[in-house]
This record gives sequence, structure tokens and C-alpha cells, in this order.
Amino acid sequence: MATTQVLMDAALTRAAAAKDADVADLLEELRIPSISTLPERRQDCLRNAEWLRARLERLGFKTEVVDVIEGGLPVVAAEWNGQPGKPHLTIYGHYDVQPADPIDEWESPPFEPEIRDGRIYARGCADNKGNHLATLKAVEHLFAAGEPPINLRFLFEGEEEITGESLPRYLRANGSKLKTDAVLVWDGGFDEDGNPTLATALRGLLYLELPCTRVGSEVWRRTPSTPSPGSSGSSRTAMVTSPYPAFTTESFRPAPRSWRTGRSTTSGTRKRY
Ligand SMILES: [Zn+2]
Repeated sequence: MATTQVLMDAALTRAAAAKDADVADLLEELRIPSISTLPERRQDCLRNAEWLRARLERLGFKTEVVDVIEGGLPVVAAEWNGQPGKPHLTIYGHYDVQPADPIDEWESPPFEPEIRDGRIYARGCADNKGNHLATLKAVEHLFAAGEPPINLRFLFEGEEEITGESLPRYLRANGSKLKTDAVLVWDGGFDEDGNPTLATALRGLLYLELPCTRVGSEVWRRTPSTPSPGSSGSSRTAMVTSPYPAFTTESFRPAPRSWRTGRSTTSGTRKRY
């Protein structure tokens, strides 16, 4: 049996050779206007689910399109358990897209993909069809090169853009048969420099309540000559001249943009958090 490295090299060689065909496949999926928010696009969403089913079945995955909620959009679940005892990877994706409004701001129609300067312009290309099709193609080339060294599962939903209940309900109902060692959620895009980003912890919400108590009136003023507590006395920041805890003016400045977005600063220094 080929080592993982040999397998990977063979898969990458095949992927490079098949680039045009793979892009053509992506363009085909991008032509499906699978907008989950619009009832008149429901049939297109269902067509997209079947489109994915056909490709996964062709790969040898045991695939089903599951109607979890009546009137909802189905979950596409595909399994390949050809490596008993080996780890299991679950790959997530969604086949629904956002509406394309405002239409007149598109240079080319949103569901007629166009390649300009090496970039594909189409609704859903970066969220999430380009992403999930890349994972599907990676698996396809891995199979063609040999056989994946781990077990694989795809879970595609059609209600991501409407925060639908179908996938959560499917997961709750089938938890025991969906055991996995890792989940790949690739639902991000590219950074400012054009590098594909693979963000972690994309799913879920964190709510934070931060109680903050302050005095009812203004108690601080800028007194550059007054040293901050614990400083050597040369601080250029002001301190609170009151019995209340000291806040410097620096404390009230918003965090630099790079802290909040993880993107590069205006000075060009790249920081990652
Ligand atoms: Zn998305």
C-alpha cells in the first residue's frame, strides 16, 4: 500500500492535471441559483442537493438526501468507511447561497459565472461552493490516486444562510452514527493578499455580558505632568486625580483595527492572532 506521502503526491499531480475540468464542474454548480431565502428557488436548492449526491455516489460514498423537516431543505449525508479502525473526518459544507441583490451592481449575471483576471465572479463562489467543491475534488483525486487513509463523511446543508433547523435536528437524531474524530468546516474566503484562509471555530455563537460600573460624573482630566500609578513619572498619559481607580486616556482608545479583524495594519506589518 502506498505511503501517505506517495498518495498525496499522486493526488496533487492528478489535481493539477484536472484543473480545467474541476473548474468547469465548479462553474456548473455555480449556475444553480440555490437561494434558500426565496421560496421560488426551492427547486433549484433541491437540484443542487441532487447534484452533490450524484458526485458523491460516483465516488463510492453511501449517500442520502435527507428531508429532515417538511418543507425544509435537505441534508446531503455521505459516508465512506473503507478504513475500519482508522480515524474519521467529517467535512461540512452548504449548498445554499445568499440572494444576489442588488442585481444591477453585478458586472456579470450572478448565476452566469465569469472568469475575469483569473477570478471567478458568481454568487456562492466564495461562500460556499468553491470551498466545498474543493474538498470534494480533493477526495476525488485521493480516490483516483489510491485510497484515502482515513474514513470520510460529507455533510452538506441547504439552510446555512437562513439558520435553518434541518442540520441541527439531523445531528441530534443521528448522533450515535455520526461519531467523528475531526470536523472540517471551510466556510471562509481569501485574505487581502489572496491566500485561502482556513478559519477554525466558525460555528456557534458566544454571548458575553460585561458589567461595568463607573462613577456618575467626569472625574478624570489630562494632566501630562502627573505620573500614572506605578509608572516612573514620565508617562505622557493622564491619570485620574480622584480617589476612584485610575484610568488613563490610553485605556479608552479603541483597539487597533488589526486586533479586531486579524488583518494587516496600515503600516504593512502583518500580525496574526
Ligand atoms: Zn457560508
